[in-house]
Amino acid sequence: METTRTADVVIVGAGIIGLACALELAQSGTSVALIGPCAGRHPGQASRAAGAMLTVFSEVEAAHPPERVAIEVAERVAARVGYEAWLDQLAEGGQPVTLTPGVWVTANTPTDRAELAAIAAAAAGAGVPGELHSPGNVPGLVSETVFEALWLPGEAGVDAEALTGSATAAVLAHPRICWLDTDAVTVTEAGSAMRVATAAGTTVTAEQVVLAAGVQIPALLRHSPGLELAAPPVLAGRGVSMVLDATPAPVASPIRTPNRGFACGAHLVARTDGGLYLGATNRLSTHPVLDRCPSVDEIATLLHDGTHELNADLRHAQIREARVGYRPYTTDHLPLVGRTAHPKVLLATATYRCGMLLAPHVARLIQHEVDHPGALLDHPYSPRRSIQTPGLTELLTAHRTALADVICQPGGSLPAGTAAALGGHLCAALAHQLADPAVQRLAASAPVEEVLPLLLDVAGRRSQ
Ligand SMILES: Cc1cc2nc3c(=O)[nH]c(=O)nc-3n(C[C@H](O)[C@H](O)[C@H](O)COP(=O)(O)OP(=O)(O)OC[C@H]3O[C@@H](n4cnc5c(N)ncnc54)[C@H](O)[C@@H]3O)c2cc1C
Repeated sequence: METTRTADVVIVGAGIIGLACALELAQSGTSVALIGPCAGRHPGQASRAAGAMLTVFSEVEAAHPPERVAIEVAERVAARVGYEAWLDQLAEGGQPVTLTPGVWVTANTPTDRAELAAIAAAAAGAGVPGELHSPGNVPGLVSETVFEALWLPGEAGVDAEALTGSATAAVLAHPRICWLDTDAVTVTEAGSAMRVATAAGTTVTAEQVVLAAGVQIPALLRHSPGLELAAPPVLAGRGVSMVLDATPAPVASPIRTPNRGFACGAHLVARTDGGLYLGATNRLSTHPVLDRCPSVDEIATLLHDGTHELNADLRHAQIREARVGYRPYTTDHLPLVGRTAHPKVLLATATYRCGMLLAPHVARLIQHEVDHPGALLDHPYSPRRSIQTPGLTELLTAHRTALADVICQPGGSLPAGTAAALGGHLCAALAHQLADPAVQRLAASAPVEEVLPLLLDVAGRRSQ
C-alpha cells in the first residue's frame, strides 16, 4: 500500500554515517525520516566490514603533501575529541560500547621507518606524541619481521559490529526518528520540498535530503533525473576483512602496519565477543557488486599479511567469517559533507578509511549546515570545493613504489631498495598504454592512484 510521510529532513542510507546524522539532527529537535535497510546481512556495507580503529594519525603516509596531512589530521582530531561523549549518547539507547585506548603501528620493512616517522610527526604536531618501542613490548605481536613499533595513545579501537548495533538501538529508540526499513529509489523535487520514493511504496517529503548511501549514491542519482548536485564523484574502495576465533584473544589495543600498496595495511582489532578482526584489503571497484564474495586472492593477501607481519600464531585460529565492504571516497580522498549545488540536497559520504572515526564529526557538521544553510561552504569537506585531479603520468610517477608492492602481493618480497626501480620499470611499460582508449576511459572514471593496479591488469590482458 502506498503511503506518504513528512519530516524536516530525510536521510538516505543507514550505515554509520546515516545513523550518526539521524541521531544528531533528532537530538537538536529536527524530525528525521531515515531510509535504509535495518535488518539483514547488509551486503557490501562498509560500516559492518570495518575494524574499527580510530586512526587519527596512522593513516598519514610519508608521501602525503603537508597541506593534505594538516587538513586530514585536524578533522580527525576534531572527531576523536568528542568520541567518548558520542559513545555515551549512543549508550542511552541501551547498548554501551567499549573503547580500547591506543593503537600500535609496526615497522616491518625498511620503508616503514619513514612511514612511522611521518605518523609520529603528525601525532607530535597535534600534541599527542607517540612512543617508539621494541617489538617485545607490543602485546599480541608475534612476528619476525617487525623491528620497531610506534605506540599512539591518541588513537583507539572499537568493535564495529557493536558500534553499529549501539547506533541502531539509539536511532530506533529516538522518538523524533522514523526509520523506513527499505531502499530509496528516486529523489525528486516536489514544489518547494524534496520527495524520496522508496522500494516499499512509501514516499517521504522533507525540506532537505541528506544522501548517506555510500557507494550507492551514484546509482541513486542515476535514477533521479533532474537532480543536479555538481559534486565530485563517489568512488568505491572494496575491502575484505575477516573475524577469527583465536583463544586466548592475543590483542587488547589494535595493532596495524602502515598503509601500503594503496591499502591500509594489515591490522588486528579485538571484538567484544572474543573474536579477532583481521583487516583489510583495498581495491578500487569501478562497478561495485555488493554481494560479490571475497576472492581467493583477497583472502590470501589478508592471511599472509596477518600471520607474517602481525601474529604468526593466528595460523591456528579458526575463520569465523569474511566480510566485504565498499568504502565511499572521492578523488582528493577527503569526505563530502555539506550542501551541494542543489540547495535542498546535502551529501554525507566519502569518509573512505576513517568513517567509523569521523561519524560523529560528520553528523555535527551536517546538523550545523541544516540549521545554518551555507555554513560549510568553505569547509574542506564541502561538496562545492574544486578538486585538481592529477593526470595519469603524474599518478604513475608519484606511486611507482606502491605499484611494485601490489605486484608482490601476497607475500612476495623484493631485495631491499629495488621496489622503486621495479616501480620505475612498471611505469615506463604502462606509459606506452596511456593512449589506449580503454585505459583513458578507466583513468577518467577514477582519476586516483588506486586506479593504477587496474591499469596493470588491463596492460597484462593486452600483452597476452
Ligand atoms: C574493510 C574495511 C575496514 C575499515 N576500517 C576502518 C577503520 O578501522 N576505521 C575507520 O574509521 N573506518 C574504517 N573503514 C571505513 C568505514 O567503514 C567507512 O568510511 C564508513 O563505514 C562509511 O559509512 P557509510 O555509512 O557512509 O557507508 P556504508 O556503511 O556503506 O553504509 C551505506 C548504507 O547505505 C545503504 N544504502 C545504499 N543505497 C541505498 C538506497 N538507495 N536507499 C537506502 N539505503 C541505501 C546501504 O544499504 C548501506 O547500509 C573501513 C571500511 C572497510 C570496508
